[in-house]
Amino acid sequence: MTTAVDLRSDTVTQPTAAMRAAMQAAPLGDDVFGDDPSVNALQAATAERLGFDAALFMPTGTQSNLCALLSHCQRGDEYLVGQYAHTYRWEGGGAAVLGSIQPQPIAHAPDGSLPLSEIEAQIKPDDAHFARTKLLTLENTIGGKVLPMSYLAEASALAQRKGLARHLDGARLFNAAVAAGGDPYQAAREICSHFDSVSVCFSKGLGAPVGSVLCGSRELIKQAHRWRKMCGGGMRQAGLLAAAAHHALDHHVARLAEDHALARRLAEGLQGLPGVSVETPQTNIVFVDVAGDKAAGVVPFLKSRGVLATGLYRLRFVTHLDVDAAGVDHAIAAMREYFAS
Ligand SMILES: *Cc1c(COP(=O)(O)O)cnc(C)c1O
Repeated sequence: MTTAVDLRSDTVTQPTAAMRAAMQAAPLGDDVFGDDPSVNALQAATAERLGFDAALFMPTGTQSNLCALLSHCQRGDEYLVGQYAHTYRWEGGGAAVLGSIQPQPIAHAPDGSLPLSEIEAQIKPDDAHFARTKLLTLENTIGGKVLPMSYLAEASALAQRKGLARHLDGARLFNAAVAAGGDPYQAAREICSHFDSVSVCFSKGLGAPVGSVLCGSRELIKQAHRWRKMCGGGMRQAGLLAAAAHHALDHHVARLAEDHALARRLAEGLQGLPGVSVETPQTNIVFVDVAGDKAAGVVPFLKSRGVLATGLYRLRFVTHLDVDAAGVDHAIAAMREYFAS
């Protein structure tokens, strides 16, 4: 059956006609020489919008996080990170493999945060037995959950008191900002004010084909630029891609509210199925736990009905630019059919 709705990830979007037009019109240069006007414009606009001095366009969020960690930490340093954080769990162990940076994972509280007492307890004393604890890394949104602004302020203050740098994996920063209500750029800036560096993905809900931007101080971005080159991320006429990201920054932020509304519609439509527990979504990700024998067959059954989802740890549906209410209702109908049989 052809795919009716693809809810595997918010990475599966196609560039819109307006985004393609922006790419087509983008002036280009060689970004390794610093000559690409479209890359420079995206970097300046992202830094400005998020309240940083400098920014760097990256091919992927993984490379962006890696270059941030490499810039904050030396060999034998340690970073504190969530047990389910992308940088720790989903990036192939890059910080350890390529940076000799030791991760210290911390169990998440149910709201996705890392308990302050646990952060504090994991900071190692200055003693030759221990790695040097250098950095606290948070993720927002984390598993689709928004870290409370008050928590960000407290975690940031704790890190500063203890002399730790602070990095945010903000792959879905703008989902958190939109969920906060009010002006999303203002909310994003407020979130970012608690960090020394922030990585933002443009290829997730923002709907660009490729790319992330790392923001930080001029000094940090200078170091990250060197690491990016070493990691093979120096791209040439990258303005073609930066133009798509810039279009997304200007036009696709506020509309994330539509993805959040569709996630709620999906979650509501799945209420009451036997043996199924649905987590109320805060943003664009719906997690569903299926009890017993029925769990293993869900993803293949949905696929047979043209609905794509993932089920690696838990059944997961993600809404995005290319999902509409009809697609969500089709997914609900397929789930109802499976659990009725
Ligand atoms: C997708 C994602 C990344 C990495 O992005 P890629 O571009 O796929 O490398 C990093 N962090 C989080 C939270 C993500 O969801």
